[in-house]
Amino acid sequence: MTPLARLLAERIRETGPITVADYMAECLLHPVHGYYTTRDPFGTKGDFTTAPEISQMFGELLGLALAQAWLDRGAPSRFTLAELGPGRGTLMADILRATRGVPGFHAAAQLVLVEASPVLRKVQSATLSGHAPAWTDRIESLPDAPLFLIANEFLDALPIRQFLHGPQGWQERLIGVRDAALTFGLSDPLLQVPDTPAFRNAADGTLVEDNLAARLAVAEVSTRIARHGGVGYWIDYGGWRSQGDTLQALRQHAPDDPLAHPGQADLTAHVDFEPLAALAQAFAYDSQGAVLTRLGIEARAERLAQNLTGAALESHRAAHRRLTHPEEMGSLFKVLAVTSAGAPPPPGFA
Ligand code: SAH
Repeated sequence: MTPLARLLAERIRETGPITVADYMAECLLHPVHGYYTTRDPFGTKGDFTTAPEISQMFGELLGLALAQAWLDRGAPSRFTLAELGPGRGTLMADILRATRGVPGFHAAAQLVLVEASPVLRKVQSATLSGHAPAWTDRIESLPDAPLFLIANEFLDALPIRQFLHGPQGWQERLIGVRDAALTFGLSDPLLQVPDTPAFRNAADGTLVEDNLAARLAVAEVSTRIARHGGVGYWIDYGGWRSQGDTLQALRQHAPDDPLAHPGQADLTAHVDFEPLAALAQAFAYDSQGAVLTRLGIEARAERLAQNLTGAALESHRAAHRRLTHPEEMGSLFKVLAVTSAGAPPPPGFA
């Protein structure tokens, strides 16, 4: 058992089974034993990798999309450039480098990073030295100003609850202890479940996931954009409406049993975009491959290839393919762009 598994088992023996959301929150952000609070998990030596760590093109193109959206909205003279869950800071570094040449963009931007992990804040500070970002724990404390925001693989790390519809009605999937090990079980039948299309349309025997934390995050950003203007790009793996158990653990680049190594494996769930899109005044939605293609990844890839040879060129071509190909991240990953009613469409969409 990991140290966190022992703590959770103790808590469960004292106060009863916990929800999957409680479990995820403890595993990822426990102050002493949490996965993100204690480590930098990215890269080949870590547990997983993300689009900005695969290629600089990802951040460059999304940075130019944000700058174009800023220009399309009249280039407000003060705005918040925000990122949620910036990881190593690589995406923001690429955004800032790509937008250096956009007149007035950097001067008008106030850079704010929403990051819960003290370890990753340190890494971000080193990556972004020279840019003086401000950090906060909460989206609610972003400045009241036009908001240009990006969040890559942030929503998939937010805690989900799981519900099963069976002969007794709805029951919640809980985590208890049996034979000194953490194990899944079910709550007593529930009187009430969240009122979303996934619950309303569920057939018997289906497991439905509810990501309240993701809905709160997207609602807060959408409200700010409706009030002050701006655009928010949410990029994550998932679909419009997914079904079934999507809770997954990743450890050293291999799938792991989600209950096996609490605090030592990454835990994520697929993002359901339908209930999130419904929270925006206006939105656009498409696959990552389609959006990067419209933002000009082909031309950018060719331009970068001109300076490369041998293994570096091979790895650049592989990274391009990985970001855009339907069999890699191109169609599994989606982009939801939220904006305000009547505003120009966000760059990158048809
Ligand atoms: N966007 C980065 C990292 C994605 S991993 C990339 O693409 O490489 C998830 C990030 O979200 C990490 O930085 C993690 O510490 C942060 N995070 C997870 N849950 C959070 C929460 N509730 N509040 C703030 N940050 C959180």
